[in-house]
This record gives sequence, structure tokens and C-alpha cells, in this order.
Amino acid sequence: MTTHYLSKSKIMAGRQCEKRLWLEVYRSDLIEYGSDVAQRFTVGDDVNVVARAQYPDGVLVSYDHGANAAVEETQRLLAEQPGTPIFEATFKAHDVLVRVDILNPCSDGFELIEVKSSTSVKDHHREDSAVQTWVLESAGIPINAIYLCHIDKQFVYPGNDDYQGLFHYEDITEEVRELSRAVPQWEERYREMLNDDELEIEMGSQCTDPYSCPFIDYCRGEETEYTLRYMPRPRGTRQVLDALTAEGIEDIRDIPEGRLTNDKQEWVRRITIAGVPELKLEAVEIDQYGYPRYYLDFETIHFAVPIWEDTSPYKALPFQWSCHIELASGELQHEEHLDTSGNPPMRTCAEALIETIGKEGPIFAYGSYEKTVLNALIARYSDLAEDLHKLKKRLVDLLPILQRTYYHPDMPGSWSIKNVLPTIAPHLGYGSLGDVQDGSAAGTAYLQIINPETGAAERERLTRELLAYCKHDTLGMVELVKYLSK
Ligand code: SF4
Repeated sequence: MTTHYLSKSKIMAGRQCEKRLWLEVYRSDLIEYGSDVAQRFTVGDDVNVVARAQYPDGVLVSYDHGANAAVEETQRLLAEQPGTPIFEATFKAHDVLVRVDILNPCSDGFELIEVKSSTSVKDHHREDSAVQTWVLESAGIPINAIYLCHIDKQFVYPGNDDYQGLFHYEDITEEVRELSRAVPQWEERYREMLNDDELEIEMGSQCTDPYSCPFIDYCRGEETEYTLRYMPRPRGTRQVLDALTAEGIEDIRDIPEGRLTNDKQEWVRRITIAGVPELKLEAVEIDQYGYPRYYLDFETIHFAVPIWEDTSPYKALPFQWSCHIELASGELQHEEHLDTSGNPPMRTCAEALIETIGKEGPIFAYGSYEKTVLNALIARYSDLAEDLHKLKKRLVDLLPILQRTYYHPDMPGSWSIKNVLPTIAPHLGYGSLGDVQDGSAAGTAYLQIINPETGAAERERLTRELLAYCKHDTLGMVELVKYLSK
């Protein structure tokens, strides 16, 4: 039996899904990270930097020379600089390696502080800290208290690098101590499992919770084309779907007639079996909307650590919009705005929008996000509130219209624009876009553009991609409305 080296992140991968851990060890070639992962790591780094600044005497343990060197450096600091907070303190016990965000000396021991970019304590944070605690105590480090240091979303940044109050420290000592008793069993189970063949585990909520798994594409490839997982799950329908799964039904097309009691689910089943899309034209009522018609999409950025005065963690701040304008003559115009100055972009976004969008005509959007963004702008700028409020009243959300009237067998039970658009306007596939193909990638591109270290050529490329992406979505809405009007 081979003894596998485990790190805390491997154990946490196993906590999410044992198959994920197995694949990480044996099939790392299959890993495909989504655009959200790079953003998550960047956010984590920013948060750690600000958290460490609260311990000005702290010393960072470098990982540049590998795990063993980091463990030795930690031991040296403990021996030679007692009383000094240590960042990324590294320990190994039971062949498990952990790195502690902040190990803070206190009377008769240490405080173990895990820094997270979330706004509350989650179960996986407790498990994460339990692994740390188990390893540190096994390595002879007395832990007096365990804290989860997370973002306080009520914080409003006053500027001048003043981040006092950004973090909330939650004492999780007792619950983590209780959990840490289970860690040896997790560790034993994972080592045993890693000496076996790949596990068969069905996809489910664990694939995106707490994080998006990097093997989703691989596991999807093993699923039947119309997996039951794609069935929409309105409230109160879970029992029926669980019963079908328990009976071994994996494909929507194999659900026996009469088993589904929810109309939407039955609709999806019927269309999937028929293999042809359905548009309930009589329910669309799109012709009631006059011209000019506007099609609006915002791109926003949010920061765990706010960089602009008077903003709060994770508040969506618009930096870009695209708007197609369809005239009664059929002529299509396009307007757009993208603020890459690096200054707070919200006001210029709002002003340019008010200036561009005329006084009348419906403003189509997809989902409620544009309304949320307008509401935030209304709350922020009282002098623009009246004009913005008028725009908000003209919004028409296409999502519920599509959800009520249209389904295509190739939409995996989802009416997101990325699933609907390719079935209606295949020529507008997202594959033709560059690196920016979703909101996460748009946020990452924006951050790169406003970063002074990004070269001019790269800034230009990313700017082009951002403009193309946002324009693509509003053009997509034009196509959707055209389809609904046929
Ligand atoms: S995609 Fe889902 S089932 Fe597959 S390894 Fe990841 S978490 Fe497990």
C-alpha cells in the first residue's frame, strides 16, 4: 500500500468529493479551472495582505524553497523569535502539511487565525481549521483559541488605506476542537481510497459547493446527455426527483409519464423526449412594446477589499455598459461605455447612460441584475436619482418571458442567456469571443486594465475583448426579441 502525501487542500478536496481528490492525485491532466478561480485566488491574496498589516511585527514564512524549508523556517522563528506573529506558519504531522494564515502568540500558547474572503463562517472553514488544529497540536503547538477572520460587508472604506473594521473575528474554538477529532478518520479514509481505483460518484450539488470543481467537464462527459440533474427543481419537487434517482433513472427521457407533478418539469420532459423546441407564441406579448427599443447590459466589479472611497466589500460597481438601440425602421444602433481610468467608474457610467438612453421606449435586460445596479446607483447619487429611476421603470426583463414561453432540448434545464442564445442564434456563440466570455472573466480583465503594471498592448487587447463581450450580450437580446416576435 502506497502512503500518499496529503496537504490540507487535498483533504479539503476530499471533503468536497472523494472522486475529486482521487482525480487530483492521479488525473491532474484533466483539471480545468473556470475564470472564477483566478479571481478567487487574487481576492484571497488581497485579503491576506490587509489582514497581515494588522500585525505589523509579523514575519512571513516563504514557500519559495519548498515545504521542508518552510517547516524548518517556522521552527526557527518559533525558537528564535518567540512572541512574533507568523504568517503562513508551516507544519507537518502524520504526513499532512498545513500552512496557517496567522499564528499569533498569546499567553501560554497561540491563536490560530484563518483569514477568509467570505462574509461569514461556512462549514468548510470549520473543517479547514480543524485540519490545521489537528496537525499543529500533533506537532506540539499549543492552540488556545481559533478564529475565523472574515470580511464584514457593512464596512465602508474611508480611504487612505484605512482598513480598520474590514474584518470580523469569529471565535470558532469549540466547534473546531470538536471537529478536529474526526480528522484522523478523514485522513485514514482518503489514504485508503487513494490506493483504490477511481470512485464512481454521481455529479450533484457537491460539484459547485463550496467551490466549483475543476473536473466538471470530465465528469459531465461520463453522464448521459439529458441527465436528470438538468431537470429544473422548483420548490417542493425534490422528493419526486430523489425517488426517480433511487429507481436508477438517470435520463430525463426515461422518466415515466405521469410521475412529474410540476408543470415546468413535465414541459421539460416532454420537449426533451420530442427533441424539438417549443415557443408558446400566444404567451409572449412582445408586440406591446414600442420603439425605440433599448437593450442594456452592465458589467460590474466588486472587491473584497474596497479600493475606492465610500464603497463596501462585495458591492457591485458598474464600470461598463452596452446598449443596442432598435428603431421602428429596423435600423440597429449601438452605444457603449467603458471607464478604464482606474478612478471610481460608477458615476461616469450612470451619467453616460442617462445621456444615451432617450426619454421613452422599453429597456430590455436579461434577468434582474440591471435593476439591482440601477437601484444601487440611485442610492449612491441623489442628484441622478430621478433620471435613473425613470430608466428603471422602463426595464423589461426578458428572462421570465423566456422561462414562461420557450424551451429547447439543448438548454440543460437552464434559461441563462448563455444556454438560451445558442439555441436561437447559433451564429452568436460565445466561442467566438476571446478570453472574456463571462462576467467573472470581464471583472478579471477590468482589473488587469486598471492595473498600472499592465502593458499598453495588453490593456488594448483586454479593452477590445471587454467591449466585444458586453456588445455580444446586448446583440443577443436583440436576437431573442426578434425570435419572440416572429
Ligand atoms: S465534478 Fe462533481 S462528481 Fe466530479 S469530481 Fe468534481 S465534485 Fe466530484
